[in-house]
Amino acid sequence: MISKRAAPVSLKADTVLINGNIITVDDDFSIPQAVAVRDGKIVGAGKNAEIKPLAGKGTRTIDLKGATMLPGMNDTHCHISDWALTRPPFMLETRFPTVKSIADIIKMVVDKASKVKPGEWIIGEGWDEGYLKECLADPSRKPSREDLDKVAPDHPVILTEYSGHRSWVNSRALELAGITRDTPDPVGGRIGRTGTGELSGLLYERASMAVREKIPPWSYEQRKTALLNAMAELNTLGITSFTDAGTDREKWACYNDVYNESFREGRWTCRVNMLLMLGGFGKTNLEAISEAYKYVGARYNFGDDWLKVGGAKLVADGIPPLKTALMWKSYLDGTSGLLVTEGNTLEEQEQSLREMIKIVHANRMQIGIHSCGERTIDIITDQYMKCLEADPWDARHYVIHSDFATPQTIRKVAEFGRRTGRSLAFNVQSPIKWTISDFMATVVGPERAAYHWPLRTMLDAGAKVANSSDAPVIYPDWRPGIQGAVLRESKATGKPSGPEQCITVQEAIRTYTINGAWLDHKENTKGSIEPGKQADFCVVDNDLLAIDPHKIVDLKILMTISGGRVVYDAGVL
Ligand SMILES: [Zn+2]
Repeated sequence: MISKRAAPVSLKADTVLINGNIITVDDDFSIPQAVAVRDGKIVGAGKNAEIKPLAGKGTRTIDLKGATMLPGMNDTHCHISDWALTRPPFMLETRFPTVKSIADIIKMVVDKASKVKPGEWIIGEGWDEGYLKECLADPSRKPSREDLDKVAPDHPVILTEYSGHRSWVNSRALELAGITRDTPDPVGGRIGRTGTGELSGLLYERASMAVREKIPPWSYEQRKTALLNAMAELNTLGITSFTDAGTDREKWACYNDVYNESFREGRWTCRVNMLLMLGGFGKTNLEAISEAYKYVGARYNFGDDWLKVGGAKLVADGIPPLKTALMWKSYLDGTSGLLVTEGNTLEEQEQSLREMIKIVHANRMQIGIHSCGERTIDIITDQYMKCLEADPWDARHYVIHSDFATPQTIRKVAEFGRRTGRSLAFNVQSPIKWTISDFMATVVGPERAAYHWPLRTMLDAGAKVANSSDAPVIYPDWRPGIQGAVLRESKATGKPSGPEQCITVQEAIRTYTINGAWLDHKENTKGSIEPGKQADFCVVDNDLLAIDPHKIVDLKILMTISGGRVVYDAGVL
């Protein structure tokens, strides 16, 4: 006879996690010991004694042994389909600390050249002169065409600098691109030359285009492998959600196809939100956007919990380190940056930017716009608010990067959200702040560099803030992001940069979890560990609320669970 008090079999959990320090990120930031999961969803959270009875015969029990568990991390702005292809086996990884010298890079090229047929491309990414031994010893020593020619004369080679703004190529690549010592510099680019006018093998900005155009496109099979590898690697970092901001038609189709092929095999392990690059990269203009709506069937929040179209991505200005983000107050060199939208004057460019926002808003797509300069941010937030005032819907438009949002604008945006119930958000990159804070002082002066990414001002105003890596700009790791937001110390020198803009660990965790879920229109199903939500977890070896914040980057990821399934296991629990 079955006792009336026993839970029906169907209510038993399929997994319980016990003995944990569980940072739920619910409204009270409560910290229970145990969680029960059924069919990929959380069915209970509480004390061990409350959760253990939910385990039945077939239930898997995971003993967290005192480890800390967080909601699965959400990288809300990155370019995973690009990042996926920038690493081995697709590209040579020439980033520091993998590479510490030109000699290290040459060794990699030798190895690759022995494995691929003559004539096939050798492509790499990530090198930084500031970290190459030979260049540090002698600043006049630059990576050269001869370095590569000596070891790979029969393979075209292109190695792009970490910033993407400079490439290092060999003679074979220059030959294929038709670049000779007589070729003039193209508009928007410069061909590197030695003192005697010979080609140096360095190509700046748009001068790289002629070489890049000769590289054959990746095949679908390569893209698929890259994407699945990338998701697996994100899982090793505790990431279960990300937004690929800038999916053109090809990437969009790739995500869809890989999803259809791999989901049932259990190889699709992240919740992916796509921001469509309508018209394609560098071609997003009024005409392209109007045209795109003829084929984009997607509207607001189209898709499911594993793959969806969140909205559209636009690009409004450049980046502060290159002084191309549009500012009210000029950079130290007296320039004030620019807009990249169409038009012959700044007024016309602003007009076309505003018009694009209007069209996307009217077509019921959320909008994320690359805007770093204070003046650009003023333009787009003003236009967002005008659109929402005239035609209100649950858009959650946001500023991508938000570097120099002014206090007045931040307060205006937050106040608008409170008054209308239509909040906007600021998407930020705390891990990048960590790496460039010293350098920014040379671009805008120490005072404005200290204000760069004003998270404290944003949160105090009541604005929404979501954090991210912008990979492949930087490795998609949330740990330096949280540490950086909490300490605002330079990675290289430890020098503080705007300590008055520091936020708490709790607040920083929110920027990577629940706030990201809100930005994805998914705050009811993910972003915190609460009954009814998806079982997406990240287990780490130490309590980040208690440890010295300088140790946050050293946290070890012990386990990652996505939709109730263990997708990464370090083998410790
Ligand atoms: Zn980006």
